[in-house]
Amino acid sequence: MSRLVILVLLVLVVGWWLQRRIARLRQPGAPQAPGGSRGKAPAPQDMVVCAHCGVHLPSADAWIQDRLSYCCEEHRRLGPKAS
Ligand SMILES: [Zn+2]
Repeated sequence: MSRLVILVLLVLVVGWWLQRRIARLRQPGAPQAPGGSRGKAPAPQDMVVCAHCGVHLPSADAWIQDRLSYCCEEHRRLGPKAS
């Protein structure tokens, strides 16, 4: 009989704990993980193409030389891909 009481208490405690967690997650001021479905979308960034390998990357991360964009210093050093 005492096992049943302990089991019921355990279920009640777990239920109360889950309810608290959910309520905290739903609070509007609660910190959210980046990339969550709510909140502002990140600002669009200009995308450029690496002149050597053709990979697309944000212009902020690109290496620029002679008005050409590269994905890394290695590709900037190698220059545009010879076709
Ligand atoms: Zn590249």
